[in-house]
Amino acid sequence: MTQHSTGGCLCGAIRYTVDAPMTGVIACHCSNCRKASGAGASHNIPLPASALTFTRGTPKRFVDTAASGNRLFRFFCAECGSSIYSQRESMPQMVVLKAGTLDDAAGLALVMNIWTDSALPWMPLDPAVERHPRNRPVRA
Ligand SMILES: [Zn+2]
Ligand SMILES: [Zn+2]
Repeated sequence: MTQHSTGGCLCGAIRYTVDAPMTGVIACHCSNCRKASGAGASHNIPLPASALTFTRGTPKRFVDTAASGNRLFRFFCAECGSSIYSQRESMPQMVVLKAGTLDDAAGLALVMNIWTDSALPWMPLDPAVERHPRNRPVRA
């Protein structure tokens, strides 16, 4: 089922559409995501890069080095600073959308917590939700 969604940054300079089913939200508790999002964790939705289309503006790119040593591109609005998505340098066919930038994210569900080894003690971790102390395992 293809699903159409819209979203954008806080100031409206960046707008996008997503044409893909949303598979669920992954909360990342790594310190880089905390800094980039300004929040206790980053709420991420992995998508095929081809599903994300910018209809207004072009996000600015910051080149981050992840805890794994891999280079990670973090894209944000140069006007208001909203984090929009990230992309591994080694995996250009995938993007990781920031769930909070969707216009309507109410229908999504949290399916996984990752990097829980570095989660803040005051961040609630639902015991019913899959969790990984570091990165998510690679699935075949
Ligand atoms: Zn903006
Ligand atoms: Zn992270």
